[in-house]
Amino acid sequence: MHKSYIRRFHANEIFHRIRIEPQISQRDIIARTGFDKSTVSSIVNRFDELGLIRRSSNGPGSKRGRPAEGLSISPDKGLLIGVQVERTALSFVISALDGQPLVTQQQRFDGGVGKLDTLIARGIAKVRAACDRPGEILGVGVSLPGLVTDEGLLVHAPIVGWHDVPVFDLLSSKVHYPLFIGNDVKAAAMAEHMFGDCVDEDDFIYLFSGSGVGGALFLGGEMYGGATGLAGELGHVKVVPQGRPCSCGSYGCLSAYVAGYAMTSEVQHLGIEGVSEFGDVLKQAAGGNLVVLDVLNRAALMLGAGIANFINIFNPPLVMLGGDLARAEAYLRPATEQEARRLAHPSMFAQTRITFSKISASKSYLGGVALALDGVTGLDASHVLP
Ligand SMILES: [Zn+2]
Repeated sequence: MHKSYIRRFHANEIFHRIRIEPQISQRDIIARTGFDKSTVSSIVNRFDELGLIRRSSNGPGSKRGRPAEGLSISPDKGLLIGVQVERTALSFVISALDGQPLVTQQQRFDGGVGKLDTLIARGIAKVRAACDRPGEILGVGVSLPGLVTDEGLLVHAPIVGWHDVPVFDLLSSKVHYPLFIGNDVKAAAMAEHMFGDCVDEDDFIYLFSGSGVGGALFLGGEMYGGATGLAGELGHVKVVPQGRPCSCGSYGCLSAYVAGYAMTSEVQHLGIEGVSEFGDVLKQAAGGNLVVLDVLNRAALMLGAGIANFINIFNPPLVMLGGDLARAEAYLRPATEQEARRLAHPSMFAQTRITFSKISASKSYLGGVALALDGVTGLDASHVLP
């Protein structure tokens, strides 16, 4: 591994510990992370110089009676901006360093790449103006609905029809803050690790359903990117040989059965009236429509099969399901768990929790904030995250 990369990983992990355990001592950071003393102390000093943390007396701590020093995140230092690009909307959220959203704004978007840089620069200025908390913008994170390489090239985003767009270069001419860009699902998984139900997990598999199904592999305390940062397209594992065509150009992908739009269009094809989006599907299910419940049940079987594969490959302690999957938890959970149990290796299934995300259904757009926070606390300049 590259030296600066290792430092980045250490820095992120140390900041994470301080964030989730306010008043933690350096000694406890060393104990929790297993990093050596000089690494922890040099990174903590750097955070201190940047004003990202504050030190305070923690009362008597050590055996020699010296007060142990507690470290906490500076609540008033600096702001982060998260931007989420979707097919029909651009969302902006401004937050403090602790990830608490302060102002959220959304504007319509026509999906054209031509004005993306101008619209994002304008949206950032607007959300900053709407936030009355003083402070410098430390970083901007932009989450994109497609495959993003380590170089900041958006390779393919079927939802908006973009191919080979150099988003990082495009935006860096208009956005004059440290800029961090990445895939929306991986950003959402990172948000789960920073602010959600995975804060104490070093390993989890994340699946997010929306316009398509994306995935992320969070392994050994970090996002696994593979050779070029594109790894983790879990929505495109094949669950049915010669199955349904998928938006990725292939056939029989999990996404073609369990994406919110896939379940919605199946319900429409079965002649159920008044269904134009996934929320309508959920309303019908809540009203006990048997046709709709059957569609959701069959989707759950596909989901369970996909999860069984992930369990067998990664032996993960946790599989987290977000987006439309989380919204439909009540209808999906029983059959999903049953099918995963039936198909996965029993001893591995027994060690895996399958959980539905709480924060992803709430639309707080924390993915971009997670990218920005990860970038800022990684102590690097602007860059691209897998
Ligand atoms: Zn596919």
